[in-house]
Amino acid sequence: MTDFTMQKGDDGVAVITWDVPGKSMNVLSMDGAGELNSLIDDALADEAVKGIVITSGKADFAAGMDLNVLAQMKEGGPQAVFDGVMSLHHLLRKIELAGMDRKTQKGGKPIAAALPGTALGIGLELPLATHRIFAANNPKAKIGLPEIMVGIFPGAGGTTRLIRKLGAMAAAPLLLEGKMNDPAKAKGAGVIDEVVEDPVAAAKAWVLQATDADLVKPWEQKSYKMPGGSPYTPGGFMTFLGAAAMVHGKTMGVYPAAKALLSAVYEGALVDFDTALRIEARWFTHVLMNPSSGNMIRSLFINKEALEKGANRPEAPDQKVRKVGVLGAGMMGAGIAYVSANAGIEVVLIDSTQEAADRGKSYSTGILDKGISRRKVTEEKKAEVLGRITATTDYAALEGCDLIVEAVFEDPSVKADVTAKAEAVIPKDAIFATNTSTLPIGELAKASKRPDQFIGIHFFSPVDKMALVEIIRGEQTGDRAVAKALDFVRQIRKTPIVVNDARFFYANRCIIPYINEGIRMVGEGVNPTLVENAAKLMGMPLGPLQLVDETSIDLGVKIAKATKAAMGDAYSDEDVDTVIFRLADEGRMGRKAKAGFYDYDDAGKRQGLWSGIGENWARAEDQPELTEVQHRLMFVQALEAVRALEQGVLTDIREGDVGAILGWGFAPWTGGPFGWLDMLGAERAVELADKLAAEHGDRFAPPKLLRDMAARGESFYGRFGGQKQAA
Ligand code: NAD
Repeated sequence: MTDFTMQKGDDGVAVITWDVPGKSMNVLSMDGAGELNSLIDDALADEAVKGIVITSGKADFAAGMDLNVLAQMKEGGPQAVFDGVMSLHHLLRKIELAGMDRKTQKGGKPIAAALPGTALGIGLELPLATHRIFAANNPKAKIGLPEIMVGIFPGAGGTTRLIRKLGAMAAAPLLLEGKMNDPAKAKGAGVIDEVVEDPVAAAKAWVLQATDADLVKPWEQKSYKMPGGSPYTPGGFMTFLGAAAMVHGKTMGVYPAAKALLSAVYEGALVDFDTALRIEARWFTHVLMNPSSGNMIRSLFINKEALEKGANRPEAPDQKVRKVGVLGAGMMGAGIAYVSANAGIEVVLIDSTQEAADRGKSYSTGILDKGISRRKVTEEKKAEVLGRITATTDYAALEGCDLIVEAVFEDPSVKADVTAKAEAVIPKDAIFATNTSTLPIGELAKASKRPDQFIGIHFFSPVDKMALVEIIRGEQTGDRAVAKALDFVRQIRKTPIVVNDARFFYANRCIIPYINEGIRMVGEGVNPTLVENAAKLMGMPLGPLQLVDETSIDLGVKIAKATKAAMGDAYSDEDVDTVIFRLADEGRMGRKAKAGFYDYDDAGKRQGLWSGIGENWARAEDQPELTEVQHRLMFVQALEAVRALEQGVLTDIREGDVGAILGWGFAPWTGGPFGWLDMLGAERAVELADKLAAEHGDRFAPPKLLRDMAARGESFYGRFGGQKQAA
């Protein structure tokens, strides 16, 4: 016995404690489930045991199923998945029925769950099977079923139990959005029963006085009716019909888990509880066997976590940041100052005027005030965070900074000037990072006296919301600078990828072609609605035209001009420029100007696509097929990712996939561009790319790496997966 242990007290209560050795959070493995099963058998059979309390030996109850175990289960095929899931159903059903006589519904032993903190996934499905759930009064604890976020759904009875407990309408945000609540809110939502100071003591007291009737779940009673109505009641009909439309609208049909969840709920609602569990298990198996869920689990959970833990961190002593200097208090600098101070780091925020520096600091005030109005932040916390930020024009205040993040204007001479000024003050071993989005790190490092301590730390806007940070290693950047950047990103709780120095690094390198392809199609006379919808139906969060409106047309023009100047004859986006320059000439600079590819109302709310598109670029008589537009939009990104790998800008496909989803929202259901190409298979990908290249140009020509892989029947994860391995 390792994960679960049991202590039988003189009071007749058996306390089962979940405490997985060597882990900070409990996760359930199949071995663990087997141990729990034996303990439950033992306690139910032991006459001296009157009731059972299941709790945790850690500060939290459990983080969920061990997703690595699910990935392994999948390798055994659908029957293995189904059998594995059914074995969990049997265990939880045993807990729920607790040895009672099913006819008389008497004679069972009360079982309660005592949650000291967070309870997620199976960590909530297990309590849901008990007869009463007690949670500690711990506002930091999260209670919920977040499975949908990684492309699966609660498959150990959570779906079936929650629907029967709360009804479809109330359970929808918990199941379909993976909404997590603190204990008080979870009680309010009817998910748990009590919030107390000492959940184990309360649970023990409860099991000792529970009656037979307390053990009978509502759905075990003949008179049971689903709250809000089952599908074939007037109320239920409306809910289920609306849910199907809503889910399809939100997922565009590309996320198999949401649809399967709805099917499990709908079909399960028409039958008895045990049959509903079998239905849930079948749909869960269906989803787990879909390549999308495997890819999502791999990128959004396993690899994301590995990168956050420093999978690609070079050997170096702890480089945790104590005091950071942020140069430039504009949009990016203000955000970087906030996330740093919020993570407990002392910040010196510098701008060229005191007014600009103060404005940068007030950005943090705004975010914290919003947090206070939502009751997520206290006045003390606000004072603490703001107290860590010194807004000034005085470079002398940078003394003692162990990291500088420079975010001044995108101008090499301005950047060189502030680099020299800061280096004159900061300790000799401090690391200097630039947040440039377009300038080569190697060039900017020339202004530094210590180029091995010079690095790129590229944030995305808005800094407080975007989870990805791209770390750029210049040619001369040393390992300690990379370790420092990674330790900093970890402190501010974001996800890092480490890439080598090349034009646009990784994320922008892939997203710009996506935007350009959409704009190019407008110039060709493709219906812009088709372009936007094709993107969304592939699972892209924003169509390319909406995206460029958000980032602004003038930025696009600026980047196009700079790229053309740098590339000379090799530049091949003139057809894109004719469209975007025309918009700029018309003053349609995007959402901020309330006019771009879309029209906006006075409040800046997006209306329809601009009618002038059709007037400027005549609609072609022959419109392309939806899939052709989709392939253009997807391949133009994915092939660029392959080139980044081939050229050594990316050195780890895990970073390529995680970075694509977090950085620019690359269709998350695919698990990222490499995951998507693996789903297609290299051979089919080459075939499709060749066809696109013949019709639309060389930008679609398959890179040699992809061709070689197709010839050898290789996949990206087969060849480069698991560990860091360069192309
Ligand atoms: P911004 O114009 O909002 O802010 C720049 C700030 O730097 C201004 O407050 C300005 O007063 C200050 N500044 C200029 N010269 C200075 C000097 N000599 N000393 C001190 N302060 C000075 O620009 P931004 O959007 O925050 O971008 C800053 C950097 O971040 C740029 O390198 C940009 O490429 C990069 N970046 C921007 C984005 C984005 O989405 N905006 C994303 C990633 C990276």
